[in-house]
Amino acid sequence: MIQGSTLFVVSTPIGNLNDISLRAIEVLKAVQLIAAEDTRQTQKLLNHYGIKTRLTAFHDFSDHSAAQRLIQRLKNGDSIALVSDAGTPLISDPGFGLVVAARRAGLTVLPIPGPSAFVAALSVAGLPTDRFSFEGFLPAKPGPREKSLAALATEQRTMVFYEAPHRITRMLQACASHFESSRQVFVGRELTKRFEQHYSGTLTSALSWLAENNHHTKGEFVVVIAGGHESACQEARMKKAEAQVAELRQEMSMKKAVAFISAFLGLSKNELYRRVLEQDQ
Ligand code: SAM
Repeated sequence: MIQGSTLFVVSTPIGNLNDISLRAIEVLKAVQLIAAEDTRQTQKLLNHYGIKTRLTAFHDFSDHSAAQRLIQRLKNGDSIALVSDAGTPLISDPGFGLVVAARRAGLTVLPIPGPSAFVAALSVAGLPTDRFSFEGFLPAKPGPREKSLAALATEQRTMVFYEAPHRITRMLQACASHFESSRQVFVGRELTKRFEQHYSGTLTSALSWLAENNHHTKGEFVVVIAGGHESACQEARMKKAEAQVAELRQEMSMKKAVAFISAFLGLSKNELYRRVLEQDQ
């Protein structure tokens, strides 16, 4: 028996169908409805475990009324399981709007935890896990992607990315040009699946590994990149500050621009001033 009027956010396997919790199976069997990103995909999982619960399609493009219908059913006493195609819903997957709407309506929202590709990758990457930044998918368009990577130039925490097979090479090339190409990286390909592969090395050597064999660029990828060293990040922050001072100097005196930018970015005013003067010479 499970409690009524509850939205269960259920994690499902990221490749190996055995990676599902007993509780997830129990909940998927007991709820009145399963709201799935792609009903055909989820049907395979349900068939494997002999789960007969009714499925309905739900994704972030579903219109407002689709979410409202689910909320109404929850209010009427039904329980609903939200699942995505793989892993944990809401993690680069649909469901955020529904969870917000359920919470706003005062309904109970419970997690049924389980696999997520980024946690699986981090747990074996051999890069620091005490602090990390989950970046999901970088923007596909070059301009916004460059902007996101430029903003990460000063990131000292381990960074975790998702990437599609047709963009994996371009993504690592862009990372190698924004970070030092000697930066340590872990590439987790097809985690938990039959052709699972792990590559650890530098950004440069990872690109050679990708080019080595056609299969290396196929499938699903998690990329884990080491954070920058403090000194390298400080240098990147200073470079950014110098560029901003150069822009502001068109509007105000150099002294004022340096004072403003150093206060804004939390950098040493004297050091920034010294560097700007040096550049002028
Ligand atoms: N919600 C999922 C989760 O919790 O991990 C992520 C969904 S997102 C739409 C799909 C992306 O996750 C893939 O493009 C890939 O980057 C990553 N991914 C999912 N399964 C994976 C696997 N088995 N191996 C490597 N990466 C995977």
